[in-house]
Amino acid sequence: MQFFSKKISQVNLILFVGAFLTITGNFTFFEKTLQVYPFSENWLFLASLFLFLFTFHAAILLIVCYRWTIKPILIFLLLVSSVLTYSTNNYGIVFDHNMITNTFETDTSEFSDLISIQSILYFSLLGLLPSYFVWKVKIINFSLKRQLWQRLKVFLTLIVVFIVVVLSFSKYYTSFARENRDLRLYITPTYFLYSSVKYIDSQIETSAKPFKVIGLDATINKRSDNRRLVIFVIGEAARRDHMSINGYDLKTNPNLEKEDIISFKEMTSCGTDTALSVPCMFSLLGRDSYSHSKGKNMSNVLDLVSHAGASVLWLENNSSSKSVADRVEFRDYRTSIINPICNPECRDEGMLINLQNYIDQQNGKDVLIVLHTMGSHGPAYYKRYPENFEVFKPICKTNQLNECTDTEIRNAYDNTILYTDYVLSQVIELLKRNSQVSDAAMFYVSDHGESLGEGGLYLHGMPYFMAPDEQIDVAAFMWLDDSMSRVFDKNIIKENAKLPQTQDSLFHTLLGLMDVETELYEKDLDLTVK
Ligand SMILES: [Zn+2]
Repeated sequence: MQFFSKKISQVNLILFVGAFLTITGNFTFFEKTLQVYPFSENWLFLASLFLFLFTFHAAILLIVCYRWTIKPILIFLLLVSSVLTYSTNNYGIVFDHNMITNTFETDTSEFSDLISIQSILYFSLLGLLPSYFVWKVKIINFSLKRQLWQRLKVFLTLIVVFIVVVLSFSKYYTSFARENRDLRLYITPTYFLYSSVKYIDSQIETSAKPFKVIGLDATINKRSDNRRLVIFVIGEAARRDHMSINGYDLKTNPNLEKEDIISFKEMTSCGTDTALSVPCMFSLLGRDSYSHSKGKNMSNVLDLVSHAGASVLWLENNSSSKSVADRVEFRDYRTSIINPICNPECRDEGMLINLQNYIDQQNGKDVLIVLHTMGSHGPAYYKRYPENFEVFKPICKTNQLNECTDTEIRNAYDNTILYTDYVLSQVIELLKRNSQVSDAAMFYVSDHGESLGEGGLYLHGMPYFMAPDEQIDVAAFMWLDDSMSRVFDKNIIKENAKLPQTQDSLFHTLLGLMDVETELYEKDLDLTVK
């Protein structure tokens, strides 16, 4: 055929197939996006979204497709995408991790149910036909140097277009990615490939190394006769500089300001998102050496405190304990089943309602309680606090941050801080009620910070090396009751609170607060010791 006598360069073939996959494979994705972002008001964003997908797909293909791999990879993607597109368009199937697991466990007779005239048409027109073209077309073999140069030029152009697109619509993209999480499941073939890698990875990981038990020498060696009672509160996305206790000009900490609070004014987080920071906070491994495969496969500080003989309880009102509480008592406060304060969102203060009963039931044993709070979880800040905490106005009343001004976003966020201030004051009240029989302390540390429009950024989760200060400068407070203040030297803690500190210290500080001895303990990292 005349058509196939034409020659095409590798780069042009990649761009052509990249565009073809983006256009034909993402009908459902764009259809669903249009339901959230009507075309008439958002056509520029929708056009940018198309460019976003195309540049992303093409850039990835440029990295993996070379002389010997280009045809097999492109043909594989075309055939797979045609099947995915058919399933998504007609059955609304999305290919997440579970679906892939499912697919591998399905027998062939079930697949035969999916064959229809329509499926054959999809497979032929979107899969076989373009694959035949890719297979037959002649590729120009430029010299290696010319070939790499051409590839580099196109690659850099794609990256620049990608960055410009994302930055020009940054407000849209942050809300879009957060609030419409399920939409990404429809991105073809990227999400399928991502899920496949995740599936294979989890298969390998589960069969990998056994759990590493550490700290079996942990024992309690208390410096006082009283029962020790420590409540460790994990904050969510709480910025240090939005606390009036640290000098913020709006009064966001009216309750904490009345207490003798020690504020760690230069605390930085381990990660920029909950999934990384939370397990890292409890891990012996510091930020430099932490990874999920190592950290989650190893005893954490809660395991050590529990092994030493204290009662350890985790109350959850965020997403999950991220495996930290897998081996200690865990209670889920995210539903009204046990959280008495849900209106309709289950409030952090609900975790305190029946906590006294638990404390009383421990027969005088030392107690460490962890509260994983919902705190300032974005972008729907306005949902994070009861109505009477709507003090700073006007607020952003939608999870689509692009519809709000930065002032409205900041006001809603500051109301969440105001509510956190109240919750922490209630924790302190609970501890005060136990002061007669306990040496009590509260320790509060946020998991990471939050961007509120600085430099055009919102929310959190930037790669650590390029994360702005707002995302890693976290709020951290400590409060000790009178008897605890006789065991620990508050002045030393106050001195430490003025210095730069990191979440690497939490493992050792919690051991210190509970008077747990082990050879893993490092005095230099304990915030209560000089
Ligand atoms: Zn978080």
